[in-house]
Amino acid sequence: GTAPEDASIVTAWLEKHQNGLGHFIDGAFTDPGETFEVANPATGEVIAHVTQGSEADVDAAVAAARRAQPKWAALSGHERARYLYAIARHVQQHTRFLAVLETIDNGKPIRESRDIDVPLVARHFYHHAGWAELAEDEFAGTEPYGVCGQVIPWNFPLLMLAWKIAPALAAGNTVVLKPAEYTPLTALAFAEICVEVGLPAGVVNIVTGDGATGAAIVAHKGVDKVAFTGSTEVGRRIREQTAGTGKGLTLELGGKSPFVVMQDADLDAAVEGVVDAIWFNQGQVCCAGARVLVAEAVEDRLVAKLTARMKTLRVGDPLDKNTDMGAIVHPVQLARIRRLMEEGAAEGVTITQGEAPEGCFYPPTLVTDVAPASVLSTEEIFGPVVTVTPFRTPDDAVELANNTAYGLAASIWSENVNTCLDLAGQIKAGVVWINCTNVFDAGAGFGGYRESGFGREGGREGMMAYRRHHARRGEVVEPAE
Ligand code: NAD
Repeated sequence: GTAPEDASIVTAWLEKHQNGLGHFIDGAFTDPGETFEVANPATGEVIAHVTQGSEADVDAAVAAARRAQPKWAALSGHERARYLYAIARHVQQHTRFLAVLETIDNGKPIRESRDIDVPLVARHFYHHAGWAELAEDEFAGTEPYGVCGQVIPWNFPLLMLAWKIAPALAAGNTVVLKPAEYTPLTALAFAEICVEVGLPAGVVNIVTGDGATGAAIVAHKGVDKVAFTGSTEVGRRIREQTAGTGKGLTLELGGKSPFVVMQDADLDAAVEGVVDAIWFNQGQVCCAGARVLVAEAVEDRLVAKLTARMKTLRVGDPLDKNTDMGAIVHPVQLARIRRLMEEGAAEGVTITQGEAPEGCFYPPTLVTDVAPASVLSTEEIFGPVVTVTPFRTPDDAVELANNTAYGLAASIWSENVNTCLDLAGQIKAGVVWINCTNVFDAGAGFGGYRESGFGREGGREGMMAYRRHHARRGEVVEPAE
């Protein structure tokens, strides 16, 4: 049966803002300017009109952030921590509202936004409040960058905001953040939380808009550090654009992560792992385990189990608590998935799919008989599509795993811990999960090798990426990654 979530709390918020939403600059919401439409991908319904950020808007936001920064940095770590704790608590108090708004804006199942995204958002603010508490010791000999320009994607809108804003604030920076154009709403709801907790004006500024707005933030002379999560293509452009400017830079980009199933793996556990790896968030996950590499002796058994499990997944209304997979974020992304699948099909691969309703939905999909050089094995699809490729020996598994331009994540499934640790050391990826997948913690660094990124977020490395390391006389300072 169905178990729809009551969305009235969000409907009321959207009605309140039916004349359009402005930016959040210097502690206040601006009047809506030239706006663009934001739709619920599951229904196609336009739910809000959001302001397209101009260069003047970015200027105003950066100026506000500049004015606020010295005072914010001069607070004791404990005082900054109190704001971060307050934000975390308010996020928890508003969990249902934020989760429903995220689901309506992005299309992800309510179960995920309520049980995964929003709790992790709170966790990030609690964790970084802890860092702020330790600031006087841990940050000694370093200084905040100043104003951070942050640009984020649409797949985990509020969570990516937390990954960016929590460490930046803990470190004494102020921020200008741009959410993705498909999913700007929870960032604006977050701005309301900043008001509620009395965060000083200008410490957090949210400017909505598209890639041009993002580019204006990156290029702005008043921005001291750029943090970007998104496509490898845009990330490359930003790296070029910031080269030689003295700006700090971290990039979290794409992936095509391997999911390695050894002959002795617990296949039932591995099947549930695949569900979490590629059918979580409709596969729109940068570290999604998109390539299952399986020992050939167990390939048939794994594929049979995966096929059976795939067909039990319920794809549909994201607000239904029984839904396993919701809508694809936008028709443009759906078209991209379909185009890649057509290219793959033309290569003669075997495609097995579950069911999906009409509209902006894509069924869970399994691709077999697929060459390692196939477009489906190499291109990031960013949809619920997993390829299965057999290997003979552990060395072959490592070679296939590393046969990618990316290197964000990997997971290894085996009952032998020595096998796991041996392979983990040979796979070139920022994180290697063993007998689990898509496990995140604010305390663990995250980031990619090669085209998957530059620098780390989370953990000590991610925290220190928001502090400038300046050398004292006679001291040699290793460059931050
Ligand atoms: P995208 O690069 O098109 O957009 C990301 C953000 O950048 C958006 O806010 C967009 O408006 C902005 N943008 C676009 N052009 C810009 C420019 N020239 N200058 C500055 N900003 C610009 O990516 P997307 O389609 O929104 O997201 C999907 C991609 O993000 C996938 O490749 C995925 O792997 C990656 N991703 C990576 C991580 C990670 O942590 N590594 C996490 C989530 C998503």
